[in-house]
Amino acid sequence: MSIIQLPQARNYWSPHLGHHKVSAVMTCNRWEEIKRFIHFNNNDNFIPRGTPGHDKLFKIRPFLDSLQERLNKIPVEENVAVDEQIIPTKARSTIKQYNPKKPHKWGYKVFVLSGISGFSYSFDIFAGSQSNVVPVDVPDLGTSSNVVLKLAQRVPKHMNHKIFFDNWFTSVPLVVYVSKNGILPLGTARLNRIPGCKMLSEKEFKKLGRGSWQEKTAIKDDVKLSTVCWYDNKIVTTLSSYVGSQPIGSKQRFFRSEKCYKDVQCPQTILKYNEYMGGVDLLDSMLDYYRIKIRSKKWYLRIFFHFIDMCVVNSWLLWRTQNEFYMPLADFKVAIADALCISGKSVLSRKRGRPSANLEHAYLEKTKRGPAAEIPQIEVRKDGIDHLPEWRENERNRCKHPDCKYQSYIYCVKCQLPLCLNKDRNCYLRFHTE
Ligand SMILES: [Zn+2]
Ligand SMILES: [Zn+2]
Repeated sequence: MSIIQLPQARNYWSPHLGHHKVSAVMTCNRWEEIKRFIHFNNNDNFIPRGTPGHDKLFKIRPFLDSLQERLNKIPVEENVAVDEQIIPTKARSTIKQYNPKKPHKWGYKVFVLSGISGFSYSFDIFAGSQSNVVPVDVPDLGTSSNVVLKLAQRVPKHMNHKIFFDNWFTSVPLVVYVSKNGILPLGTARLNRIPGCKMLSEKEFKKLGRGSWQEKTAIKDDVKLSTVCWYDNKIVTTLSSYVGSQPIGSKQRFFRSEKCYKDVQCPQTILKYNEYMGGVDLLDSMLDYYRIKIRSKKWYLRIFFHFIDMCVVNSWLLWRTQNEFYMPLADFKVAIADALCISGKSVLSRKRGRPSANLEHAYLEKTKRGPAAEIPQIEVRKDGIDHLPEWRENERNRCKHPDCKYQSYIYCVKCQLPLCLNKDRNCYLRFHTE
């Protein structure tokens, strides 16, 4: 549904607009029934507002917890960034936020710890004052810095990991605390949040020209801090304990007055920040391609769908690190859907509708030489349900076992593929077990 988007969910079952891939899975009534009854927590345990222990995210909490538990199993990469993300919604909700800087301005605010690829390791939905809770043994550094402390729990200590964040989060106590705990921080900063640090004014920088910079260092609680101001069109300030202005690099900039590109000087902190900060924005743009847009009156379903989308992107990124050939995100999403719809399920005893595999097959027959049938996912191939053989006279085709080049009349009724089964070869067995 997120790949082929229609105005209303009911349209997927319409004879004109509809799509057989969707309608073959279940009836429209079944779909609406599931949507009506899906829930994630036992309402009997709900603690009302104003009572200690009240959780604004109670309705979706068990799902969020088990998702984080799964994410905890993935080792964190060396460079990670903390940034905020918006789950777009127009629903009325007390935890909805407004952020003019994001493409979707209204929505639930989520803080995400992500790698440069956009992979998310940890997240925290902002739910008002209840979100400002620091883990035990961690000092309270204020609402924004606490977010970083919370998410940084996921990052291994004393392993040379670097963490990046923007000026909304950065404070001197945060940089000092994170450094003392064996993680190397770099953030853009607001100069007025760095006490006693005086730098050139914007006017003075303007005189020096684009690419001018200034660095000041200080030691606070045995941690060496470096503050760097860099002037491009405006001043950008960074604060870090592991990297300073050196070695100076360069950046190409367009000079409007002279109508040409020129290299300007750029301190190391700015280069590092730009290199590693963009993970969450990248994740956002990947989510936007095929976002699940199922409407619901239940506010927490929007959050549920968002995290399903995030899981798909996460899985896709993981998959790409382990496979040499490239599969577009849309194909990957379809492959997941195909596997979920057919793996572990019987194709023979369906009461309603035609089994999706047969529909697919009818399509192939009509077009004679249709597109090559896809090999089902391993979850389907090896689920051990209904992979029964069928003899198809006049349909002798190349066996679909990857290392076989013979032809066969025997088809698997579930996979809809020809496979050898004779006294010389049993590709049929190998295909479904190896
Ligand atoms: Zn099969
Ligand atoms: Zn074969």
